[in-house]
Amino acid sequence: MTGSNEFKIDHLGIAVSSIEEALAFYRDQLGMTVTHRETVGAEKVHTAMLPAGDARIELIEPSEPGTSIGKFLEKRGPGLHHIALKVPDLNASVEKLKASGAKLLNEPRPGAGGHIYVFVHPASTGGVLLELIQE
Ligand code: ZN
Repeated sequence: MTGSNEFKIDHLGIAVSSIEEALAFYRDQLGMTVTHRETVGAEKVHTAMLPAGDARIELIEPSEPGTSIGKFLEKRGPGLHHIALKVPDLNASVEKLKASGAKLLNEPRPGAGGHIYVFVHPASTGGVLLELIQE
């Protein structure tokens, strides 16, 4: 094996205007289970995690207006917001990306569940907001 399988999909982030309304589909109609709910102060979001195999669906609702998720919803409506990959060495990935000119949106910091993460701007990733999480 080369290093190609060291990256794992951690979760898919879906922006919603109301987690309760979204759960009427994902939980009540589809039958998925919510295992974790959390408000992340730094991102000003409420989140709900629904496991899907080794990965999860993360429903994200803005906790106040004017936040980046709030603006995303205003501009594009609810939908797929980001893809999150677990990486074996986040600091190494960050250094490599910075050195090659990729646009990072934050320095590594703890988020939902206490995991350390960074966001990479869609301009650097082919149009998808990408979250990298320390394994
Ligand atoms: Zn996320």
